[in-house]
Amino acid sequence: TQRFIWPMAQFGQIINMYQRAYASSSRIFGLMDEPSRIVEDPDADGLVVGDGEVVYDDVTFGYDEEETIVEDVSFHVDGGETLALVGPTGAGKSTVLKLLLRMYDVDEGAITIDGQDLRDVTIPSLRQNIGYVSQDTFLFYGTVEENVSYGTFDASREEVVEAAKAAEAHDFIENLPEGYDTEVGERGVKLSGGQRQRLSIARAILKDPEILVLDEATSDVDTETEMLIQRSLDQLTEERTTFSIAHRLSTIKDADQIVVLEDGKIAERGSHEELLGNDDLYAHLWGVQAGEIDELPEEFIERAQQ
Ligand code: ADP
Repeated sequence: TQRFIWPMAQFGQIINMYQRAYASSSRIFGLMDEPSRIVEDPDADGLVVGDGEVVYDDVTFGYDEEETIVEDVSFHVDGGETLALVGPTGAGKSTVLKLLLRMYDVDEGAITIDGQDLRDVTIPSLRQNIGYVSQDTFLFYGTVEENVSYGTFDASREEVVEAAKAAEAHDFIENLPEGYDTEVGERGVKLSGGQRQRLSIARAILKDPEILVLDEATSDVDTETEMLIQRSLDQLTEERTTFSIAHRLSTIKDADQIVVLEDGKIAERGSHEELLGNDDLYAHLWGVQAGEIDELPEEFIERAQQ
């Protein structure tokens, strides 16, 4: 399968890269407003990613002592596999993934990447290895090119263009007033959610991380754009460990594992076929989204409340 391989950063730039990654990762992950309680262990080492195997072992977490938001969540994702999280709004899906980025520390249990506990590795090295794609992706005031190459070193114009093409973003970029030199972000040209999402896909392609987090939100794009985005995402997730929060079940039916979260707990898990066989919440939500049943049976409505 196709991989993007970029020249190694020069040594001096690696230092700079970590500094920049450290400063920027909260912004990139759109969590600027969240106070960090994370303290890095002075003995922390850089994360060494091999296959990208991710294990959640009995993870429990709450934002405060009063309420447990994630309870006893365990799963094992082999390198290159895709795990999709589905469930009602407020079930804790985003929280589960914020824990992977170590925006917060687990209260109980542990998360490991290739056997390394997140608490034992440096935060920049962790976030440098995780790509994040969403419509809310932070764009800073700068050119399209600078926004795409953010977090990657030494990216040439050709590499940026290649990544943008793979992300189906090249055509709209070329149509901006100054192409790749167009200023975007708060004071620049306003981009639509779908365009921002494609820029974040391009950024992730260029960054070439072993682990990807996709927060799906393609509601405000037309069908053709949605197809293009899906195509570029399929290419991006191939061979990478991928976590995907999906609202439209059709986009995740091929995931290796689907985990249904309800009220912070795993209610169901399995492949799409297995979950259909369960004939529980997932199967009924699928039935509605696929148009096979007209409406959700009474008993599932409260559980599925969005
Ligand atoms: P989902 O992604 O499934 O919609 P979230 O993980 O966003 O769910 O939220 C789960 C619960 O945690 C919700 O009740 C939400 O209000 C709460 N929550 C999310 N973020 C924070 C935060 N930063 N501080 C306190 N509570 C939060």
